[in-house]
Amino acid sequence: MSEQQDTGGPALPTVRYENWRVEVAVPPMWRGHDEDVNDMTKRCEQRRQEILRHVDGVNKNDVTIEVDKREVCPFCDSTWELMPEGYPDVGYPACCPKAQDAYAAMLAERKREKD
Ligand SMILES: [Zn+2]
Repeated sequence: MSEQQDTGGPALPTVRYENWRVEVAVPPMWRGHDEDVNDMTKRCEQRRQEILRHVDGVNKNDVTIEVDKREVCPFCDSTWELMPEGYPDVGYPACCPKAQDAYAAMLAERKREKD
């Protein structure tokens, strides 16, 4: 086992701190409304307006609503992934048979529309 030598160069990889921001968490009782995009957008916009009204020196463009989007399977809620090259069902959903069946049905429907 070799000890890591200090080469005097930069650490690999180098950690860079960027995109600094202050986030305001949504109240716990809002959870469960997450699926309703319109409702959550309205609630977050109301909270944004409250912050702008009550905090000195904050520019309205500095307070933004951010949300992470993730593609998930509508049947099993797994992160959406497709079968990689080398698998017999390449390009099909990787998570569950229901998604694979629905995908096959969608492809058949598209083919029918084309013909
Ligand atoms: Zn699935």
